[in-house]
Amino acid sequence: VSFDDFITHWARERPDATVLQESGRQLSFAGLEKFSRQTAAALNSAGVAKGDRIAWFGKNSDLYFQLLFSAGRAGIVTVPVGWRLAPMEAEFIFRDTEAKLIFAGDEFVDSAREIAARLPNKPRVVSASEARDWFAGTPEPEEYTPAGPDDAVLQLYTSGTTGNPKGAVLSSRNLFGLRAAGANSGLAWSMYDDDEAILVCMPCAHIGGTGLGVMALGAGVRGIVQSEFSAEGVFEALRQGITRFFIVPAALQMVIQHSEAANADFSRLRFVMYGAAPIPLELLRQAVETIPNAGFVQCYGMTETTGTIAALPPEDHDLNGNERMRSAGKALPGVEIRIIGDDGNELPLGQVGEVATRSSNNMLEYWKLPDATAKTVTPDGWVRTGDAAYMDADGYVYIQDRIKDMIITGAENVYPAEVESAIYGHPDVAEVAVIGVPDAKWGEAVKACVVPKPGHAVDPASVIAWTRERIAGFKVPKSIDVIDALPRNPTGKIMRRSLREPYWEGMDRQVN
Ligand code: ATP
Ligand code: MG
Repeated sequence: VSFDDFITHWARERPDATVLQESGRQLSFAGLEKFSRQTAAALNSAGVAKGDRIAWFGKNSDLYFQLLFSAGRAGIVTVPVGWRLAPMEAEFIFRDTEAKLIFAGDEFVDSAREIAARLPNKPRVVSASEARDWFAGTPEPEEYTPAGPDDAVLQLYTSGTTGNPKGAVLSSRNLFGLRAAGANSGLAWSMYDDDEAILVCMPCAHIGGTGLGVMALGAGVRGIVQSEFSAEGVFEALRQGITRFFIVPAALQMVIQHSEAANADFSRLRFVMYGAAPIPLELLRQAVETIPNAGFVQCYGMTETTGTIAALPPEDHDLNGNERMRSAGKALPGVEIRIIGDDGNELPLGQVGEVATRSSNNMLEYWKLPDATAKTVTPDGWVRTGDAAYMDADGYVYIQDRIKDMIITGAENVYPAEVESAIYGHPDVAEVAVIGVPDAKWGEAVKACVVPKPGHAVDPASVIAWTRERIAGFKVPKSIDVIDALPRNPTGKIMRRSLREPYWEGMDRQVN
């Protein structure tokens, strides 16, 4: 289970099949075998050794994946840095990683050089065009020090939804362990036909982007890389024959909204994978109705677990009122999931607590954060997710929300995702985020921030009445803010902490 294993295997089995495709460029497995040996050797000769870091600063690109796969063969850790980050945020990550070399998409070279000049080790910045020439020109013999399965190969920063992003250090066992387990266990959606193609359109600085490229390599099928997400891009990829994609709920909403006008043809699509944030039930129903021929797979996981640890399979996406459509699914083969209480002990079924998980998918550590690592990973290898959920008798996990976002109003716990899901179907509401704001009587009060649909006006009283019909009274917002847009991070997650901020100025919000 290393990049060496997978690349060599597919180069032997399917040498001429395409592994990476972007715009006009295509690379075969045999081509990747050659390129990755040259690149691994070139990096070693440039003084970049096993355990060192290189960074990628740019949009999604076939070159990024070539770098990752090549550096991974030699145990060099690739760190993709999100190009949508503000300069200060990007600099925070560059400073943290201590990369020896920074590879930058051609349009990001100038900003990468500016940042690099401020870093203590003044790393060299190599543009994408320079990099392609450099590696292609490496002379034989292409010798490099190969990595073992537990050597670090990838460092992904968490999305920064609840605080500063942390660098999760992942090994090739992390990247490939579950893929192999899923395929061997006969999970229908983890088995591939030779002619399949996977779309990589979520940002590669996150597991939902990089993970998909790795999935294509693991499965020996074509990965179609798009520089960034757009609904039109998805429709284009459908014309190019993709059979699966992974997108976040906010992106799925755009695809569904525009599909009719774009005359999208979903007929060759086999699986729609979605996740990374709670999905409103109404949106999921619309999506399943719009793409009836594809199997829907909800993915639940996090950066620290190299992505998916639980999945809701296609057969549980039943439009006839199946309660399971509210679930994020059950543990993948080889993954243990438990719901634990504050004391760390397992809770009885049905009781809400924190999700904890153990598998070969768990990260090695947070880079340079031993305290945070110790808080997150228990000595016997369980990762505490920070997510609140309960489990049913069949092992299905029902994510409520993040523990840090839970609203305590009076003596009741309210999970924003449930309230958002209830409000979502309101005819005037395009998007909604629910937060807790300080309240003299209740401690915290539930507030909904809503974005009206274009051309609609939102009447707060009507939203409150709508919600009251659907969920318990104590969960109904006490107040509604009408806003233009929700603050989202680059993965499309709602940044509830920035919505909360103005209300909590000068006050401490107690979180468990
Ligand atoms: P940070 O850890 O920096 O605050 P983050 O947790 O958003 O950011 P990620 O690792 O990208 O960073 O996201 C993992 C989180 O996303 C999970 O802990 C969970 O809260 C949420 N999530 C992922 N999949 C799902 C899902 N299917 N349903 C609900 N929430 C999900
Ligand atoms: Mg997190």
